[in-house]
Amino acid sequence: MKTAYGKRLLCMALCLLMLSGGAQAVEQGYTVFHGDRNRARIALTVDDCYDGEHVMEILDLCEAYGVPVTFFVIGSALKLDDREVWIRALDLGCEIGNHTWNHPRLPELNSRDIKKQLRRTQERLDDLLGFPYIMQVMRPPYGTLSEDPHKKSDIWVVEAIEEAGYLHAVRWDVSQTDPDKAVKDVENGSILLYHANPKDVRCLRQLIPELMQTYECVTVSELLDLTPPAYGEHAATGEIE
Ligand SMILES: [Zn+2]
Repeated sequence: MKTAYGKRLLCMALCLLMLSGGAQAVEQGYTVFHGDRNRARIALTVDDCYDGEHVMEILDLCEAYGVPVTFFVIGSALKLDDREVWIRALDLGCEIGNHTWNHPRLPELNSRDIKKQLRRTQERLDDLLGFPYIMQVMRPPYGTLSEDPHKKSDIWVVEAIEEAGYLHAVRWDVSQTDPDKAVKDVENGSILLYHANPKDVRCLRQLIPELMQTYECVTVSELLDLTPPAYGEHAATGEIE
């Protein structure tokens, strides 16, 4: 293709290649399904959290077994009356992550509204706690990051989440509420998905002690080798500054 037209075609192809390469660089590793497959560590995650009572039951398990859970909370479901629930979660070494304001399918929004969904939830959490606790991991509702169900994510969706300040979009590799089956599905680095409801609490009650025989349970940030969100000086007292 030794013509100007041919050169232009070649140039366009190269540009496309570079663009797609760039897109892949943002995407690669940003959406995570699991942690390191070579380390016997796993992360338990609990989504939605509409009901503080069931969150408390899960926290009882955290306390009994000394394991942390990462809660992905929906901002509009966070009740200011439940402050002691969330202070207790943080005191027990649990992590809180963002699960949007009202659980929309993110690819159906625009970039600005995706950021707003995440920002409103952070603001609600700050109001509830009375001090800033900066969430750094998020979970997309339904695990959806693309309008195409066969695609892992749309780049503009992931970019909006990243621009909102999140280090990772966190999905999962195990979502099994039958504890006997779940224990077989789990492997090194697994991220397990649960919800704060009676069935999942029953599952966790059996599952946690079984998993502890093989794995260390850590928060999502720990599993991904991130520095956990700062909570430090509030931990001892839970006091509002
Ligand atoms: Zn959810």
